[in-house]
Amino acid sequence: MKKTIFSIIFCLTAISVSVSAQKAGNVGIVAHRGYWNCPEAGYARNSVAALKCAQDAGFWGTEFDVNMTKDEVLVVFHDDTVAGKKIKDHDWAEFKDIRLENGETIPTLDDYLAQAVKHPETVLVFELKPAPEQEFENRMVDLSVERLKEFGIDTPDRVIFISFSINICERFARKMPGFTVQYLDDDFSPAELAGRGISGVDYHYGVFGKHPEWYDEARRLGMTVNCWTVNDPKDMEAMLGLGVDLITTDCPDKLKSKINFEKFQNNF
Ligand code: MG
Repeated sequence: MKKTIFSIIFCLTAISVSVSAQKAGNVGIVAHRGYWNCPEAGYARNSVAALKCAQDAGFWGTEFDVNMTKDEVLVVFHDDTVAGKKIKDHDWAEFKDIRLENGETIPTLDDYLAQAVKHPETVLVFELKPAPEQEFENRMVDLSVERLKEFGIDTPDRVIFISFSINICERFARKMPGFTVQYLDDDFSPAELAGRGISGVDYHYGVFGKHPEWYDEARRLGMTVNCWTVNDPKDMEAMLGLGVDLITTDCPDKLKSKINFEKFQNNF
């Protein structure tokens, strides 16, 4: 048993290197659903323009949400429903002409990755949305990995995986050893997640107040620590004070102004 626990800790420590090494002791800014909150992106979350703005601004990473249609097209969209239709129950043809706030059509994952490859320095924070059926989730994971490989974005320094589904996190962890995988919900402690082979946590920032022991617990286990969605300057300061690796925010420009961004950039 002792040997197993030691192996888990050793393995998670090795996994966390890809995130920590890039940050070089400072916090990484993750633009939530891209850097959408600016005129250039047309205020359209999860748009290709929002990805491009995050890349141009030089943030550490950019988060985005992925769902899958009935005919197995992966799409970058937050909700599970578009125009009253469940994405998983309809074919892509029924969604492909629907426009976002900035006039773009809903991006497929391939559309998104075609822009992502242009800036390899911007880490993709890939959120795969849960589905009611485990088989459907498994297929989503497998196809996501396939698409990332196709675009050559299949190294731990280019992409990390996050999900509210424990099944999705476990499957990514098994299929992509050495990659950072972070669970989003607070129904599992860091130790329970480590026991399942998951290398990181991405909790709502309020969770660290509710479970004050979880931050140190995650660190003892060598896990990476991310938090969402931190928009208020006071909450940003609290998370910076705690020492998290990554802060996910709708206001990456505000967060940037709070930290020594030049030093952060030079440390890459
Ligand atoms: Mg998300």
